[in-house]
Amino acid sequence: RSVSSVTIPPPACMLRPLEAPFRYLFGPGPSNVPPRILAASGRPIIGHLHQEMYQIMDDIKKGIQYAFQTENNMTLAMSGSGHTAMECAVFNTVEPGESVLVAINGIWGERVAEIAERMGAKVHTMVKTPGGYFTNEEIEQALAKHKPVLFFLTHGESSAGLVQPMDGIGDLCHKHNCLLLVDTVASLGSAPIYMDQQNIDILYTGSQKALNAPPGTAPISFSERACHKMFNRKTKPVSYLLDMTYLSNYWGCDGKPARIYHHTGPVSGFFALRESLAILAEKGLENSWRHHREVAEYLWKGLEDLGLQLFIKDKELRLPSVTTIAIPEGYNWRELLAYIMKHHQMEMTGGLGPSVGMVMRVGLMGYNCNKGNADMALAALADALKNCPKSKA
Ligand code: PMP
Repeated sequence: RSVSSVTIPPPACMLRPLEAPFRYLFGPGPSNVPPRILAASGRPIIGHLHQEMYQIMDDIKKGIQYAFQTENNMTLAMSGSGHTAMECAVFNTVEPGESVLVAINGIWGERVAEIAERMGAKVHTMVKTPGGYFTNEEIEQALAKHKPVLFFLTHGESSAGLVQPMDGIGDLCHKHNCLLLVDTVASLGSAPIYMDQQNIDILYTGSQKALNAPPGTAPISFSERACHKMFNRKTKPVSYLLDMTYLSNYWGCDGKPARIYHHTGPVSGFFALRESLAILAEKGLENSWRHHREVAEYLWKGLEDLGLQLFIKDKELRLPSVTTIAIPEGYNWRELLAYIMKHHQMEMTGGLGPSVGMVMRVGLMGYNCNKGNADMALAALADALKNCPKSKA
């Protein structure tokens, strides 16, 4: 008997219109997307292998080179979120059995350690509680001890609100014959990073933070040393989708005359990413860094005026894009955040991974980064502190 009738009816929810409320996204990401970028992502789709798409991808590559301050030819955007870039970096530069060193001072190091462990690397970690940073001496000792092929460090630790000082670390890694991998998902555009001058081998970011594009694409760049390592491996990377041999061809980075189909990239996501990189280029990196710092300082002062304490004591180590507030004594942080969401349509968040229960996080990134929004965030916090019950304990 052939099957001729549907037995699953159309779901009732699908017969209702989409509901997506307006929210002030003042957490650690995603951030609000400005109309210009939304408009770019709403343009008619073209084919992922059309000449015009290649031009847009070439523009994106140039935009990333500027944002990262690199001349690396191997510069592209991943089809996927920041985690895709994390996995791409590790899967391509490390072979099973090789030693990897991961600096953990929040959730991102934890994640990379797990990614490396899953693909069969020998993982060594340096661990600090959230808020701690790594000195060059500590890093050099660990490099000498573990002799890793790759060292991972988070530039903007968004779970702790910390910016890691970067000078000199690339040189140390190269002295110890190791590649330096740096995560700038939360910091790019808000805190200075200079990929080439700081001798960083692999750098990646996300689209949805200070770049203000929708989530779902992730810029990444590889130095010549990184390319040498990943294109001279004995084993194939564990992921077909993230294999840089194919991705470098798809992005026109391998010098071959033709780009061959590998996967269908997120066309609208690339339109949006191009527009967000164009906005950064028009504004200028230094202006963007200065602006984030100014608004962050304004927010920090306002928070202190409310009687709140900043989690990172040293101003120079505070991440300008994501501010962490120590949970005020006597309050339930979940209640404060729920109140702010309910009464102000505003997202702020708690900690993440090891910083859960330690901090509340306020992010003002890119388009969201201005004193008017800082005032709104402060007013919402003041309102929550006034109206949420304080426990006796
Ligand atoms: N690294 C850092 C520093 C981040 O803040 C985030 C996102 N919160 C990620 C990596 C992961 O990015 P995604 O959620 O886009 O996969």
